[in-house]
Amino acid sequence: MDSNFAFLLPVMMLIFGCTFLIVARFGSREAKLWGPGYLFAAAAFSVPLFDSLLEERTASAIADALFLLGFVFYSGAILARFKRPSYFRLRLAFAGVMYAGMLYAALVAVSIPAEFLLNDLACVALLGFAVAVSVPHMRHAADKLLLAVSGLVIADIIIRNVVFVFILPSYGGHEDFISSQYAFTMQAAASILALMFALSALAATTLDTIAAHRDTAERDPMTGMLNRRGFDRMVGERGRAEGAVVICDIDNFKWVNDTFGHGPGDEVIRAFAEMLQARLPEGGFAARFGGEEFVIFLPATPLASGADFANRVRLAFAAVDRKAIGFDGKITASFGVAGANPADHSLYEQIARADKALYAAKEAGRNKVMVEGEPPRDMSSPRVVSVARGC
Ligand code: GH3
Ligand code: MG
Ligand code: MG
Repeated sequence: MDSNFAFLLPVMMLIFGCTFLIVARFGSREAKLWGPGYLFAAAAFSVPLFDSLLEERTASAIADALFLLGFVFYSGAILARFKRPSYFRLRLAFAGVMYAGMLYAALVAVSIPAEFLLNDLACVALLGFAVAVSVPHMRHAADKLLLAVSGLVIADIIIRNVVFVFILPSYGGHEDFISSQYAFTMQAAASILALMFALSALAATTLDTIAAHRDTAERDPMTGMLNRRGFDRMVGERGRAEGAVVICDIDNFKWVNDTFGHGPGDEVIRAFAEMLQARLPEGGFAARFGGEEFVIFLPATPLASGADFANRVRLAFAAVDRKAIGFDGKITASFGVAGANPADHSLYEQIARADKALYAAKEAGRNKVMVEGEPPRDMSSPRVVSVARGC
């Protein structure tokens, strides 16, 4: 191997190993496997640097074991990334059997080509198995890139072996082949692929970690619903899509807390959130804006349909049996509904109108759906009455 490569690869692998272990500290399960994988690879690539200390066959046996362990961890990382079973014992047993074969080839048969072939075969099988099991579970572009690069690594190893078997005889011997331009190109390609493999794995892992943290920051831990920050991002992503906005607030919740305690109060909020989420139409999203107040955006939904949705939630919530918390009556919620207005500069103007309607619903006696534009106290308004009478 060219002396430049000899130093470059272990250092590169070491950097990747350490980087993955740092990413692992942010909670990535797959990074915990990529990290040792790269550290084993770094150690394997370092073995030739100690050729003055180690007997050649011993060095080769150590490097084989380290490479193999690296691939056991790479395949484990891919399986973990795609949430597949780890098949850990199967992979380890396979690696053990292949290693025994390599030792036999190196020490008993004394055939370096056979030893290399078995090692490459084992690495291809470990990686190929993980890729084959994971392909049906690709979700994002980063997944596809990682599996595509894994495929290239596998193809490169196979091509290298085929070339080795068919082209080596045309060179004077192993030494002539190693110093040929052809061998240099193959090693350069393998190094570039190793770098691409590591970078695609790191990109996929880091993107996942960032997405997981963003999700945590944008969700309310108690209900799992979007919080206001998450709602803002969803609104930002969807631009100025028109639709209905519904705001709802549980009625007399302070009384619920004071009477039954904070714990049962939390349960009521959670159950309300679940009820909302379960009834959300396709494309709609809901957020917990504060204590017991929720905002829902229903894209491409006319005002009347928004009011119908609100009423369905209102009726379902009011119908829940509260005997579990020792209450024989109903806990209810009030709703305000607003539609888009061409003069609106942002969704927040529509939300403000829905909030006004909600206030009107509270004023009108609670457990009501009030639609914007309706006179707040005018209970004869057909839309308000038709929605509010179901209780
Ligand atoms: P209204 O019908 O006018 O909405 O009356 P309300 O009592 O529901 O209104 P108010 O806003 O005065 O009270 C809301 C209460 O919700 C006060 C607060 O202690 C309680 N709260 C806010 N967040 C939580 C929470 O996470 N869990 C529980 N259990 N209570 C909460
Ligand atoms: Mg309330
Ligand atoms: Mg409130």
